[in-house]
Amino acid sequence: MSSIRHSTKRAALLRQLDRLGRRMLFGTASETYRTCGQPTCQCHHGGPKHGPHLQVSYRGETGKTTGYHVPAALADTVCDGVRAWQRFQEVARTLAALNREHAWRRHAKRSAR
Ligand SMILES: [Zn+2]
Repeated sequence: MSSIRHSTKRAALLRQLDRLGRRMLFGTASETYRTCGQPTCQCHHGGPKHGPHLQVSYRGETGKTTGYHVPAALADTVCDGVRAWQRFQEVARTLAALNREHAWRRHAKRSAR
């Protein structure tokens, strides 16, 4: 890859990271079913549980898995954010590989002098 094409590609990846970074949310989304706070409710007596509820899980700073429930009105926003987080990591890997290529090429140029 030429140096110009290389920097064009890097700029495009950085723009993508910027766009994704504004939307991304950390964690993985899943649907869960819950029991409620009413001890007399069917969900405590073998009946169907409440749900599905959207749940986001992630590994917290101590390494322990934690998460939060998502209000239904925010489900689309949160699912989009979680997908953006995954995409962000793919783009970041591609950018990191280009950065490495760039460093090697600069090194080769300097060594050739
Ligand atoms: Zn219940």
